[in-house]
Amino acid sequence: MGALMLLWASTFAAAQSSFPAKTRDQLPVGAADPQIAAALKDVSAQRIQANIEKLVNFGTRLTLSAQDPAAIASGKGIGAAREWIKSEFESYSKDCGGCLEVKTDAFVEQPADRIPQPTEITNVYAVLKGTDPENAKRIVLVTGHYDSRNSDTLDTKGDAPGANDDASGTAVSLECARVLSKHKFPATIIFLTVAGEEQGLNGSKHFAEMAKQQGWNIEAVLNNDIVGGDKPFPGIHQNVVRVFSEGIPAAATDADLKLIRGLGGESDSPSRELARYVSEIYRTYHTGVPPMLVFRLDRYLRGGDHYSFNQQSFAAVRFTEHREDFNHQHQNVRNENGVQYGDLPKFVDFDYVAEVVRLNAAALASLASAPAPPANVHVLTRNLENDSTLTWEPSPAGRAAAYEVIWRDTSSPDWEHAQRVGKVTRTTMKLSKDNVIFGVRAIDAHGHRSLPVVPTPER
Ligand SMILES: [Zn+2]
Repeated sequence: MGALMLLWASTFAAAQSSFPAKTRDQLPVGAADPQIAAALKDVSAQRIQANIEKLVNFGTRLTLSAQDPAAIASGKGIGAAREWIKSEFESYSKDCGGCLEVKTDAFVEQPADRIPQPTEITNVYAVLKGTDPENAKRIVLVTGHYDSRNSDTLDTKGDAPGANDDASGTAVSLECARVLSKHKFPATIIFLTVAGEEQGLNGSKHFAEMAKQQGWNIEAVLNNDIVGGDKPFPGIHQNVVRVFSEGIPAAATDADLKLIRGLGGESDSPSRELARYVSEIYRTYHTGVPPMLVFRLDRYLRGGDHYSFNQQSFAAVRFTEHREDFNHQHQNVRNENGVQYGDLPKFVDFDYVAEVVRLNAAALASLASAPAPPANVHVLTRNLENDSTLTWEPSPAGRAAAYEVIWRDTSSPDWEHAQRVGKVTRTTMKLSKDNVIFGVRAIDAHGHRSLPVVPTPER
């Protein structure tokens, strides 16, 4: 670059930096619910550490590893891990007077790429049933996978500690169950742990298909996979947890795609609204690790259990630490040239996991306290006009005390404005529908907000 060019470039840079940076408007957040805030205080990093170390002590939790009674009795293999998770959920239930229903979803997976012979796979879960009969049909769910692997996906004997991937996510489901089971919510919360993730998402696929076939109304799925915080890299965005969400829904029909193309709906899938909800929950409860929303299904070359739910048209997001260390994932435990390989507990930051638990628990509790989202939300497009009229049907199951219209610029990543409109089912906004993206959500008498629904046009 010539001297003159350099001078021009530096002058230009100086001029640029003197422009006031546009600060984005952010949605005003509501008050924290004292019951939820109390539950978050109860989250224990020591408990999380004990649970992760317990899971590591099963040696391997490979889905193909032993699960016969002798192996279970010896405390090694996936069968023993499964039985322990079950007993852990049962102990929480005992502490809340039997408030949790502890269940398994077992099936035999037929041979496939990473499954050499028919293999029984068992998902273990606990249900905290909603206290309101109508709202109990609404479900929010948190999941992690308890299976692990080492360098060889078929090695049934070698150690596969899987402390981060994904004892950490299993610990999120367990700790959320422990702290939230001490409280009551109108809607149902499911605490799920699945197996088969490393062999091909088999457990979550079976569970999500079962939920779809049985008509379960799952409003939100929080998948935690690799949320250990990656201790050897202090200071490198350690204080962030990534939240991945799909843009175009995996389950979109041709008609859905046509609407998305026509209206600029690429960034408004139900999963993305769930990711934004998590971000708002962070601003309400000030949990210690902020979410970093990643507008992408998952990382390059990688997949996870949230996708199984997306395929069945459920809103689902993935939580993953800020920066992964690939020496500590899917690796045999060994020391090579002074480098320690393997997914060991010493690399997990238990305080970080505790903050991820708090963020998950706050989102689950808020959604389970909120009314159902409004139904059939439309924006009227019969006439050419600069105002925007929105209509909807009342939030089903009768808990809405009011509604709120939220909106943002079409180029903005997150909601920016909110206007409360009372207990109505129609409102006209002095804003052009051509220039913003709207959402409508329901609010209960205590300020708990539902997920928003983006209107579809009605002619
Ligand atoms: Zn994983």
